[in-house]
Amino acid sequence: MWRNDFPIFENYTQQHSSPLRYLDSAATSMKPNAVIKAMSHFMETGYGSVHRGAYRLSVTASEKYEQARQRVAQFIGPEIDSNQVIFTRGTTESLNLLAAGFCEVLLTPECRIVVSEAEHHSNMIPWQQAAKKSECEIAYVSLVNENEGWQLNMEQAERLVSSNTKVVSVAHVGNVLGQTNSIAKFIELSKKVGAFCVVDCAQSAATHDINFLKLGADAVVFSAHKLFGPTGLGVLVLSKKLLNILPPYQYGGSMVSSVTLNGAEWSESPTKYEAGTPPLVEAIGLHAAIDWIESKGKENLKTHANELGKSFLSGLKEIKNVTLYEAKNETGSFNTQSIFSFRHNQVHAHDVATILDSHHIAVRAGHHCAWPLIQKLGVDALVRVSFGPYCAPEDVSDVLNGIKNLHKVLL
Ligand code: PLP
Repeated sequence: MWRNDFPIFENYTQQHSSPLRYLDSAATSMKPNAVIKAMSHFMETGYGSVHRGAYRLSVTASEKYEQARQRVAQFIGPEIDSNQVIFTRGTTESLNLLAAGFCEVLLTPECRIVVSEAEHHSNMIPWQQAAKKSECEIAYVSLVNENEGWQLNMEQAERLVSSNTKVVSVAHVGNVLGQTNSIAKFIELSKKVGAFCVVDCAQSAATHDINFLKLGADAVVFSAHKLFGPTGLGVLVLSKKLLNILPPYQYGGSMVSSVTLNGAEWSESPTKYEAGTPPLVEAIGLHAAIDWIESKGKENLKTHANELGKSFLSGLKEIKNVTLYEAKNETGSFNTQSIFSFRHNQVHAHDVATILDSHHIAVRAGHHCAWPLIQKLGVDALVRVSFGPYCAPEDVSDVLNGIKNLHKVLL
């Protein structure tokens, strides 16, 4: 629908004499002209060092960097202050920062960390490492199959989030099955026992309301590249309570208020968490990406992707030899949104992706950085199809035809 805003589609057609059917937005999103132009315009006209110079380019670059931070704060919710918004290199770094910080100041051998077994590796391995270092327990909320739909076992979650639980960290929307998890319930459980609640919004920030701090969460994380912005930039939004508790993650320039040969004092948030030269051009890109999202309306972006998702889902269910891994949302309804995973009973997932690519259809195949989840489903790899605002009904029909005809290529 908004395809013309994204130059890659026209360029791809010219280069390959075929339209691009891009069905991998859950991995990374394409970039609209507004983002590309904002970044290159800034590099052409206003580039300078952030927070380090008295010359005018440096001053305006610093202002633009801080304006991007304010824009992110507004994007999350009106009550978020810009000092609660920390720029990192991505969701992965945001989660590592949290896990390392909790490990340093909070976790003891008596504690428990709770995550789900359906998490992306970046919301699992940092917590496993924190548990190892602090010799505390890490417990997993299971994914269970209820009436043909996979979902997190919330009864088990109620038992696991108990008085010794210090951190609960879960994804808002799953990157493999596309389900929306019960974040409000996880926040409620965490609050009851005084645990910190972290919400991984990597898959939801572009299309959903992610102001979980309003409900009592302590941290929300996401990556710019999944919301039509550049790679190399992540966001970590901290509750006011956590700002005073978490120590810095890295040490170096910019994050100090004083340094002597005997040690250093940290500045306040957000600079305390942003050692080194910051991702300035990327922050300008994220600012433009948020402007683009809000000019179209998050709800409209979601509706568009979900409608394509629904039509894909009903077509896929009619194809023989395909096993769809359906999930249920927090409400108990089946996921009919924009991320779906399946396997072909005769053609391996990697072959499916390679064959579809020969028709210029881009899908993801593999373990989707979620090995424990893939093992739980009893497979070694899945094909994932995901939709973005630039996808069109022809993408759905072409991918369905491609899947229908897979057996012809191999048999
Ligand atoms: N969490 C989820 C749910 C994801 O889908 C991803 C990426 O796919 C990540 C975390 C990691 O994001 P990044 O690779 O941008 O750090």
